Amino acid sequence: MPVSHSLEPLPPREIVRLDDPASGLEGVIVIHSTSLGAAAGGCRFQSYPSMREATADAVRLAEGMSYKNALAGLPLGGGKAVIRAPRGAFDRSALFRAFGRAVESLGGRYVTAEDVGTSVEDMGDVAEATRHVAGLTQQPGRAGGDPSPWTARGVLGAMEVAVRRTLGAPLSDVTVGVQGLGHVGFALCRLLRDRGARLIVAEPRGEVAARAATAFGAHIMSSAALLEAQIDVFAPCALGGVLDPAAVRRLRAKVVCGAANNQLATPAQGDELAERGILYAPDYLVNAGGIINVAAEYLGWSEDESRARVDRIGTRLAQVLDLADGDQVAPHLAADRLARSIIAGEGRTAALAA
Ligand code: NAD
Repeated sequence: MPVSHSLEPLPPREIVRLDDPASGLEGVIVIHSTSLGAAAGGCRFQSYPSMREATADAVRLAEGMSYKNALAGLPLGGGKAVIRAPRGAFDRSALFRAFGRAVESLGGRYVTAEDVGTSVEDMGDVAEATRHVAGLTQQPGRAGGDPSPWTARGVLGAMEVAVRRTLGAPLSDVTVGVQGLGHVGFALCRLLRDRGARLIVAEPRGEVAARAATAFGAHIMSSAALLEAQIDVFAPCALGGVLDPAAVRRLRAKVVCGAANNQLATPAQGDELAERGILYAPDYLVNAGGIINVAAEYLGWSEDESRARVDRIGTRLAQVLDLADGDQVAPHLAADRLARSIIAGEGRTAALAA
């Protein structure tokens, strides 16, 4: 397999500086792409040493959202907001209302939601100033609410495809190592148990791991041991960057398919996995169930519509893997290429009917 690594970044369409001294709001909204629809992506709230770092982070994350939304078949572009957490005391509600006014001033070109450091309550404050926000309290009969079960459902569908393709087996014939039993990981274990898969889990919160052992018959290991365990599938559902060069060398699974964001420490590890004959299901494709549910809330889709779209994640993975085989590149690169061609409105869009 030739060295494929990754593509050069695509520049954003628009960078909007946020500066409201009265509330302490300081940050940036990056509109990366709008060719498929409004630029959608969450609002991150954390400390940054300077606006330079905050902007660089927002640009990188916004590009990721463009690719994720495109591969998820959503009529949305990619964007991201990053707010620098103020040093001293501040009125959080006032700050997020000011952010909402900034979102409103973009006239729907950017749609926000929760991300690292922001909550449903913060989005409630944002919603006082704009309707271009999702991640609010769920309305009966409507999509919305906790995205984690949807994310788990999408991961399961993708895993089924990846396992069938690599091992020619159903999930009932395999052992899955799940790293991290948080909102997504625990829900994924339940779904896997229902499919008859054997489970090995790694989770630092001992009582949660014990609960999985009792409820799902899971075997418990440390995260380090899980990498070297005799498992068929490794499902990272905890941290980013877990697939570093050492982990890739030690891994014994034949499939990597999990919910964690940014699983590859660098794109080179995508190639290294392919060279070792390990199928890596690109994280942002596989974990799109959550964003599909958030998008459904904003776009007013029913829960049935949202579910049907989440259930197409496995088919999309199969398309990406076919492209990877055809182009002789690793799946992470095939996913980026397909996402870009969809954003550019090129022919492959039809194959990915939403
Ligand atoms: P979470 O915080 O609820 O769960 C993370 C779990 O990982 C926790 O139980 C934590 O104790 C555990 N953990 C931490 N370090 C660990 C280690 N070294 N080994 C094993 N376990 C460890 O998060 P979540 O919402 O379940 O999300 C999990 C991952 O999936 C994150 O990377 C998140 O960004 C990504 N993701 C989540 C969603 C969603 O809908 N929640 C959507 C897309 C992507």
